[in-house]
Amino acid sequence: MNNIFDTKIEFLKGVGAVRAEILNKELGVYTFGDLLEQYPFRHEDRTHFYKINEVVSDTAYVQMIGRLTFVNSIGEGRSKRLVATFSDETGEMEFVWFRGAKWVEKSLKVGMWYIAYGKPQRYGFKFSISHPELDEYDPNTATPQATSGGLAPVYHTSEKMKTKKVDSRVLAKLTRTLLEKVYHTISETLPEYLIKEHNLISKGLAVAWTHFPKNAETLDQAKKRLKFEELFYLQLKIIASKVGKRTDKYRGQIFTIIPTFNDFFNNHLPFDLTGAQKRVIREIYNDMRSGYQMNRLLQGDVGSGKTIVAFMCMLMALDNDAQSALMAPTEILAQQHYNGLKEFADAMGVTIELLTGSSKTKTRRRIDETLRDGSLKIIVGTHALIEDKVDFYNLGLCVIDEQHRFGVAQRAALWKKSSKAKPHMLVMTATPIPRTLAMTVYGDLEVSVIDELPAGRKPIITWHKFEKGRLRVFGFLKEQVELGRQVYIVYPLIEESETLDYQNLMSGYESVTRAFPDYKVSVVHGRMKAADKDAEMQRFAEGKTEIMVATTVIEVGVNIPNSTVMIIENAEKFGLAQLHQLRGRVGRGGEQSYCILMTGDKLSKDGKVRIKTMVDTTDGFKIADADLKLRGPGDIEGTQQSGILDLRHADIGADAALLQEVRGIAEKILDEDPDLQKEENQLIKHQQSLLVKKSSTNWSRIS
Ligand code: ADP
Ligand code: MG
Repeated sequence: MNNIFDTKIEFLKGVGAVRAEILNKELGVYTFGDLLEQYPFRHEDRTHFYKINEVVSDTAYVQMIGRLTFVNSIGEGRSKRLVATFSDETGEMEFVWFRGAKWVEKSLKVGMWYIAYGKPQRYGFKFSISHPELDEYDPNTATPQATSGGLAPVYHTSEKMKTKKVDSRVLAKLTRTLLEKVYHTISETLPEYLIKEHNLISKGLAVAWTHFPKNAETLDQAKKRLKFEELFYLQLKIIASKVGKRTDKYRGQIFTIIPTFNDFFNNHLPFDLTGAQKRVIREIYNDMRSGYQMNRLLQGDVGSGKTIVAFMCMLMALDNDAQSALMAPTEILAQQHYNGLKEFADAMGVTIELLTGSSKTKTRRRIDETLRDGSLKIIVGTHALIEDKVDFYNLGLCVIDEQHRFGVAQRAALWKKSSKAKPHMLVMTATPIPRTLAMTVYGDLEVSVIDELPAGRKPIITWHKFEKGRLRVFGFLKEQVELGRQVYIVYPLIEESETLDYQNLMSGYESVTRAFPDYKVSVVHGRMKAADKDAEMQRFAEGKTEIMVATTVIEVGVNIPNSTVMIIENAEKFGLAQLHQLRGRVGRGGEQSYCILMTGDKLSKDGKVRIKTMVDTTDGFKIADADLKLRGPGDIEGTQQSGILDLRHADIGADAALLQEVRGIAEKILDEDPDLQKEENQLIKHQQSLLVKKSSTNWSRIS
C-alpha cells in the first residue's frame, strides 16, 4: 500500500535534494508526514494591519501595508547599515538592517508594495523597525489576509537552517504547499461518537488550523483536538498496561460502619475542615467500602492539612476492627506525627503508639504484643515498622508520609504485613510531582488532591538576597525574634563530603552565635545521634531556643507554628522541590512568615530560574511544574516508561483539566469494552496499533 504521507520530502514542490538534506539532518524530517507534524511553536498575529500613523511607541509587533520609497546603504565598516523608507497614505517609517545588508539590498525593490512586520522603536518623532519581515504584495490581485494568512506560524529552525535560507517562513510555505496537496487524504483518528460528544473538530481541520489558523479561536479548537487525541491514546496505553485487566484489582477489606469517625467529625474536630479535606475524605471512604484494595496518592501542599485526613481514615479502619500504621521517613517526623495524632486520639480515648529504631526494649515489647493481639489500633513509626519481627493482628490501612523518601520495595514490605486482605494504601506527599504527572505516570494509583489551604493562612513572603545584604538580613531576623518569633537557618548538604558539610554548617553556627550573643541557638545535623537530634528539635519546638541552625534534616514535615523566618543559605545549591519543602516549615501559624534565599553573586541560568520561581509563587503545583520544565520528567521517579516524554501537543502542567477529563473517557471506554471489540471502537484499536508501529519505526531510524 502506498501512503502519500510516506513520500520522501524531496519530492515536495519547492524542496529538492539540497533542502531535503537540510530537513533530514536538522529537523529529522524525511517524509511528507514528518513535515506535516512539524508544528509551529507559536503564531504571530497577522490579522490586523496598522496604518503608519497608528503606530505609537509602546505598540508591540505591528503589521503594515506600504511601499518602499527609498533604499540606501550608509556608514562604513562595522557601522555600515542599510536604511529604507516605508510609506503609506498616512506617513513614513524607517527600516534598518545591520546584518546581511548586502544580501537584503539586492532583494529589495524600490517602489514595490510590501506587507511589513516588526517591532517599532521611537527615535525622536520618527519610528524605525530593525530587521522587519517583508512580503511582496500586489494590491491589485491579493487581499492582504490571503498573503499574510491570518495568524502566521513560527517554526523551530536551527542556525544552520537560517544560513541556508530555510527559515521559519520557508517552512511555512512548504507546509502550505503540502497541505494543499494532502489535506483531503488526512484520515480521522478518533471515532465519530467521541468527536460529537466532545465538540471536537476533524483531524484534517485540526492539522490545517494548527499550522494556519484563521484566528485565535480556530487555533484553540485545533490545539484542543490534537491535545485531546494525544492524551487519549496515552491514557489508553497507561490504563491498559498498568492497571491491567481491571477486574484483577485486589480484594480489599470493607470498612462501612464508622461510628467513631462520625463522633470525631461531629464533636471533636479542632477546626473546620476545608472543602478539599472533606472531598478527599469522601473519596477515600468510597474506596474503603468498595470491596477493592485502595491505592491512593494524597497530594497536598505543605500545610494543607494531610495529617488530620490520615487520622480520620485511621478511625474508619478502627471502627471495623482493623489496625492502621503511619510510616514516616525520619524519627523527627514520626515523633511529630505521633504528637499531632495523639492529641486527636486522646480526645477520642484511642490508644496510639510510636515505634522507631530508638524505642526502648520495654516499649517495644508492649507494642509487639498489642499489635499482635489487635488491641493496639494505631501505630506511628519509621522503617522500624517494616522489620520482620513486627506482626499485626489485622493491618487494614497503611499511611505513608512524604512518599518520595520511600522506595517501592518498602511500600511492598508493608503490604505483606496484612493477614486478611491487602491493606488499603494511602500515600501522602507534598509536591514532588505535579498532579497531572502523577495521574499519568502512576496509572496504578488513584490521585486525591487537597488544593486548598486552611483559611487565614498568610502567604509566605520570599526574598532573594546576596551576601552583601547579610547585615540587613540579620537585622530583620533580630526584629522578628524581638517580636517573639523563631527562625530557621538552613545549610545545604554537601553530598560529596560529609566533613565539608559539617564545617560549612559549623562556621555558619559560629557566625550566628557571634551575631546574636543574646539568643539561644540550636543546631541539628546529620552527624548527631537520633536522640540528640530529637532533643534539640524538641527544645526549639518548645521555644527554649530562638534560632535553629540545621542542615536539610528538617526538610520534611516539621511543624512549629511560631517560627516565621526561614533563611536558606547557598539557596542556589538546592533543587526547587527541596526549597519548597524547606519554605513550608514556616507560615504554619497565623503570623506573617518570610523566606530569605541567600545566594552567591554568580548564579547559573537554572539557578536563576529556581530562585525566581520561589520568589514569584508559593503554589506548590506551579513550583512542581517549573521543576518539571527545568529537569524534564525523566528525572522524576517512574516517568521513564510513561510516554510522557513524547508529548507534542499537550502540556501536563497547563492541560491538567483536559487530562483529567480524557482519563475519565478512556477509563469508561475500557470499562465497557476492555478488548475494544465493539464496532464503534475499531478505529481506536486500529489507531493504537499504528501508534505502536510508529514508535518502533522511530527507534529504527535513530539507530
Ligand atoms: P501537611 O499537609 O503539610 O502535612 P499538616 O497536616 O501538618 O499539613 O497541617 C498543618 C497545620 O494546619 C497543622 O497545625 C494542622 O493542625 C492545621 N490544620 C489542618 N487542617 C486545618 C484546617 N482545616 N483548619 C485549620 N487548621 C488546619
Ligand atoms: Mg505533613
